[in-house]
Amino acid sequence: MAQRYYQPEIETMPIEDLKKLQSEKLVKQVKHVYENVEYYRNLMDEKGVSPEDIHGIEDLRKLPFLSKADLRDAYPYGLLAKPLKECVRIHSTSGTTGRRVVAFYTQHDVDLWEDCCARAIVAAGGTDEDVCQVAYGYGLFTGGAGLHGGSHKVGCLTLPMSSGFTDRQIQFMDDLSATILCCTPSYAAYIGESLKEQGYKPEDIPLKAGIFGAEPWTEEMRRGIETTLGIKAYDIYGLTETSGPGVAFECCEQSGMHINEDHFLAEIIDPDTGEVLPEGSKGELVFTALDKEAFPLLRYRTRDICVLSRKPCSCGRTHIKMTKPMGRSDDMMIIRGVNVFPSQIETVLLKEGYQPNYQIILDRVGNNDTFDVNVEMNPEQFTDTVSGITAQEKALGEAMKTMLGINPKVHLVAPKSITRSEGKAVRIIDKRKLHD
Ligand code: ADP
Ligand code: ZN
Repeated sequence: MAQRYYQPEIETMPIEDLKKLQSEKLVKQVKHVYENVEYYRNLMDEKGVSPEDIHGIEDLRKLPFLSKADLRDAYPYGLLAKPLKECVRIHSTSGTTGRRVVAFYTQHDVDLWEDCCARAIVAAGGTDEDVCQVAYGYGLFTGGAGLHGGSHKVGCLTLPMSSGFTDRQIQFMDDLSATILCCTPSYAAYIGESLKEQGYKPEDIPLKAGIFGAEPWTEEMRRGIETTLGIKAYDIYGLTETSGPGVAFECCEQSGMHINEDHFLAEIIDPDTGEVLPEGSKGELVFTALDKEAFPLLRYRTRDICVLSRKPCSCGRTHIKMTKPMGRSDDMMIIRGVNVFPSQIETVLLKEGYQPNYQIILDRVGNNDTFDVNVEMNPEQFTDTVSGITAQEKALGEAMKTMLGINPKVHLVAPKSITRSEGKAVRIIDKRKLHD
């Protein structure tokens, strides 16, 4: 199959040229930040490093890290590197982990971000013949604006739906023949479920591809969505601090996301020691924005855990690939001393034939953690006997124990009783914090 790219000369650039380009940009960017961001200048001074010490990407590790705590300290203007007058947009994190961050964009920043999203849409097979339904939330959240801008750049007919109003999403999808759907994977699963309920079969709608991201999702969930919607589902990754979605995206291989390396320099570090790890190691992803003007974070710690690989990709893109983040370090639950990620629970559910509709409830009784997982039954189980259901709860609990090493108490609950998400799903309710 012929491969299409949005910016072929960049996306397939030989690695040596790419590294040279990154080096040139880094030298310039460090100077820009040092001169314009007092907060980061102080961090560099404390570390005894100046812009003259940075000659190329090999010197990256001399620079100090930035963390979410720094963003909080510097809120709102402390990391701004351009006069506000030159900024044209603000976005903010969705606040999944509590504290919001605000990011600023010049027109140049918006342009390069939209280019990144356009690359993702083209990699998913998008062209100016497509009708692109953007069902990420519009507003402060970056999802809607990013894919909307990318869709325009590709020349798709853009349906700016925002999230929610699922019946209307389905009506427009059908009436206006949407071919590409962009939203969170949990919302895609919900749209799929609603389509099925309304009697649609996958072949009744012209949808061919989905670009889903902004939250962790498993391979099993991908297969589920691909089957219910009759599409190819592509992953897309990003965070407000680095502009938004489109920092990395999947190609036709659907095995990891190419990082837009001409704009973002990626490193993997040991989250405990900060040591830079060799390619192929699992660790925390760190980004340096090479082109952003207004909010150019250097060595920003994402807290997302993944692996980088430069193995050549059949799509012809040369940019390094990241694995799906298995969850962020602060999504990780420590239950009775064991590390548990929601994605592990999701994997078990889908393997055992359940839908990814679940909620984890943690609490503490005395000094012991309690660990409950509510899982929606499939409609056919709903008519089962009480003893039948108890047996299935036990079986599911055992399957989770094999995966996690600890035994949750599984409760099968009525179909549709767990609130559906139109944006990022809320999987964990940790009541233990109330007791601290
Ligand atoms: P918040 O931190 O409030 O959720 P953002 O909307 O900026 O704010 O979300 C960025 C975060 O979302 C990333 O750091 C990552 O944890 C998660 N994320 C984004 N895309 C993906 C993806 N494709 N897979 C897994 N996690 C993702
Ligand atoms: Zn590829």
